Amino acid sequence: MSKPVDCPYYFADYFRGRDVEKCRLIERNPENRRPWHRSLCNSCPVPGILKRSTCRHLALEGSVERKLGILDRVSVFAVCTEHIDELRDPTRCPACEAEAAKERAAQEQAATKL
Ligand code: SF4
Ligand SMILES: [Zn+2]
Repeated sequence: MSKPVDCPYYFADYFRGRDVEKCRLIERNPENRRPWHRSLCNSCPVPGILKRSTCRHLALEGSVERKLGILDRVSVFAVCTEHIDELRDPTRCPACEAEAAKERAAQEQAATKL
């Protein structure tokens, strides 16, 4: 049994001798061609992206890609589903950030009127 992974896409079932581990992000990508294995979680950017992203409507697609001809890594494609924008940096969504800034400004304005 390996250490659990702090990621919402990680699934493990060891109940009654079962030994199943899965990545639900990779699993649901029909375009993925390489097998997933638990050690990919160690270098996977997804948990960090989910914690830090400024996008409020983030959708991720993950695949296993071979880097430098030897290393398998999880590669991520990120989209803001509200603004239909591909995010080059999945931790930052300029459209959602602008929206949040507008909301903050409106709240501050409302607070000064109280
Ligand atoms: S590979 Fe990445 S997305 Fe998949 S379970 Fe591991 S940490 Fe989560
Ligand atoms: Zn967004």
